[in-house]
Amino acid sequence: MNIDALLAIDQAHAWHPYTSTIDRDPVYPVRSAHGCRIELMDGRTLIDGMSSWWCAIHGYGHPVLDRAARDQLERMSHMMFGGLTHEPAMRLVQSLVDLTPEPLQHVFLCDSGSVSVEVAIKMALQYWIASGKPERHRLMTIRSGYHGDTFNAMSVCDPVTGMHHLFSRVLPQQIFAPAPDCRFGEDCPPERIADFAALIERHHQELAAVILEPIVQGAGGMRFYSADYLRQVRALCDRYEVLLIADEIATGFGRTGRLFACEHADISPDIMTVGKALTGGYMTLAATLATEKVAHTISSADPGVFMHGPTFMGNPLACAVANASIGLLLESDWSANVRRMERAMAEGLAPCRAVSGVAEVRVLGGIGVVEMQEPVAMREIQRRFVERGVWVRPFGRLVYLMPPFVIDDAELAELCSAVVRVLSDTSP
Ligand SMILES: *Cc1c(COP(=O)(O)O)cnc(C)c1O
Repeated sequence: MNIDALLAIDQAHAWHPYTSTIDRDPVYPVRSAHGCRIELMDGRTLIDGMSSWWCAIHGYGHPVLDRAARDQLERMSHMMFGGLTHEPAMRLVQSLVDLTPEPLQHVFLCDSGSVSVEVAIKMALQYWIASGKPERHRLMTIRSGYHGDTFNAMSVCDPVTGMHHLFSRVLPQQIFAPAPDCRFGEDCPPERIADFAALIERHHQELAAVILEPIVQGAGGMRFYSADYLRQVRALCDRYEVLLIADEIATGFGRTGRLFACEHADISPDIMTVGKALTGGYMTLAATLATEKVAHTISSADPGVFMHGPTFMGNPLACAVANASIGLLLESDWSANVRRMERAMAEGLAPCRAVSGVAEVRVLGGIGVVEMQEPVAMREIQRRFVERGVWVRPFGRLVYLMPPFVIDDAELAELCSAVVRVLSDTSP
């Protein structure tokens, strides 16, 4: 298919994420991708700064992941998980249990991040029904969060930047504490978690769980908050017997400098979700993990089973690639590598501080963020990035980088300088 034919179909029929079918955003046709490079159909090559939204930690077309997919394809690409089991899924379940905090012992494989959040919420609700306290059915969260686009996940996304106003009639009404304002690396004195503490105290008898993204709030604002805050949230959940759901879909598998962001605070949630980088971005797969207490409580009361079961649960092809991706990550000195990325982005993005219209520059692990005072002119900025040979996709006031872990220093420097140049060229 040539570019024009492809774009004609796209224009006429394709719905991209968060887009209009009338006022069309430009899209750039991709032919292929290798390592950190995205090759466009018009022959241009872009350095990838996005890892396809947190996913492609090993870059594109990694020979080990390619081989894992091919080998698995020769055995079976899919098999129903009801009444049957298989090695790719069992190897994955075992490594998730081994890698995540010790109390998490039961793994529910899902087909996408949003589904794993729905599953986590359903587990929390079923836990309280099984415990004879069905009145504990609400969720509490912190503002500026993002947990996915399905209905219960939406209900705990930030109420301002999320979709609450649009769907307010059908969304369950949840409880929102302010976003943490203690930064990563700082302590959190009692007065700065007082609102959270007051809300959980007031509402705990109707609360099933607190759900949050540990340490890094991703699509809701790219904010990095205090590990001390997270530790205190865990303690408050314990005090009021509220379950804690840690959504590690974006933060999992090394992105923040720890394998899972909960490790920064040395806490363990009752339920955890993982997705995105789980398969190194090869295909869609996620998982929800639960403690023995949550799992066994659900299983000991009527109806005696957890009421969920996606068709593509435990897809062998996705599990095989996930196993290979986790293997690649653990074999590498990923922690030193993420620190290298952190240093390079801290240095490379620092000049943005002198650009007018920039509110803040912050870097944590493999995440570099330039927050602007005003929303950026997305189409214009996107075009300029592509012209400079990089793929950076801002949203709202945020221009950010989360490159594949295989990116080299020269490519990182190029990405950062493109951000500096494009923001300087478009600054007010
Ligand atoms: C992306 C994301 C989700 C949703 O995952 P999907 O695979 O897009 O459904 C949920 N929570 C967090 C923290 C995410 O970053």
